[in-house]
Amino acid sequence: MSKELSLKEVGKMLMEAQSLVLCFHVSPDGDALGSSVGLARFLKQQGKNVKVFVDDVVNDFYKFLPDVAIIQRPVLDEIHEADLLVVLDASSRDRIGIVGDCVKAKAILNIDHHISNTKFADYLYLDANAAATGEIMCELFEEMQWKMDKAIATLFYTAIVMDCGTFKFSCTSAKTMRMAANLLEAGVDPSDIAEVIDTQSRASMELLAKVLPSLSFAHGGKVGYLAIPNSLYNKSIHTDNFVNYARYIEGVDVAFMVKEVEPGVIRVSLRSTKAVDVSIVAAGFGGGGHMRAAGCTINAPLDEAIKQVLDALGKVL
Ligand code: AMP
Ligand code: MN
Ligand code: MN
Repeated sequence: MSKELSLKEVGKMLMEAQSLVLCFHVSPDGDALGSSVGLARFLKQQGKNVKVFVDDVVNDFYKFLPDVAIIQRPVLDEIHEADLLVVLDASSRDRIGIVGDCVKAKAILNIDHHISNTKFADYLYLDANAAATGEIMCELFEEMQWKMDKAIATLFYTAIVMDCGTFKFSCTSAKTMRMAANLLEAGVDPSDIAEVIDTQSRASMELLAKVLPSLSFAHGGKVGYLAIPNSLYNKSIHTDNFVNYARYIEGVDVAFMVKEVEPGVIRVSLRSTKAVDVSIVAAGFGGGGHMRAAGCTINAPLDEAIKQVLDALGKVL
């Protein structure tokens, strides 16, 4: 069980630490990267010793982010000591992979917005109503009256827009918009960021063309899904947006995409448009996430994994 902190207490704890390791979930997305690298940049400006770790590769899609080069991939036999390990945008210890084993910190602080949070850290700031961890970062900066430069604002803005579908998803609140407004005042140009995040690589579009024929429907058309078999899977190609091609279809309440990342290892991304809580479905397979966006991994052949997800969805629809 974690001790839950106020934002002020979070700010104080970050300021009191001299050496910090920041980390976030594997398969990092814009929110994990933007919120962590933005906070790291600020803490470095305060003269602190800061490392940023992820137990994964960072997709080239994110190379436009300022300071992204600060991110290191840890190796198991190298132990890093720190005053504080800060885990951002991750709801359980297994989501940070080996980072938990490579860092010996005096305390672990978790800053998160997943409803499925397991309260694994010593200290926790959880706001399941925040659209993104980046939104929590903006509130923290406001609360502590910390100054952000344009690079930090760009990182937090990317974090927010990528988790709330550029203010389209239901997690978008008035506060999300207010925090985004602060970031515009700090120098962010939303059209510059939209340009980079809406631009896909040619390889990504070519892969999409091969994946779209797999589009299928079930449960009377309420479920739409796509599949990437291992023969088409390529870790370096960005596919995070593919699931939306199954989601924004008339009659579809739940969409999912299965990716066979290794033969027999299936990464599942679930999205829902109506009041279907896909975080519960994902939790049934040991995963988690939010009501309308969740994920899990299933160890089974691709067809079998699809069948298991369809069965689980049949129970909640
Ligand atoms: P994705 O489909 O990978 O974009 O994930 C959708 C949301 O669910 C994100 O907020 C993820 O952080 C979260 N999520 C994905 N996989 C898991 C998992 N195995 N455990 C907990 N949360 C997850
Ligand atoms: Mn995330
Ligand atoms: Mn997030």
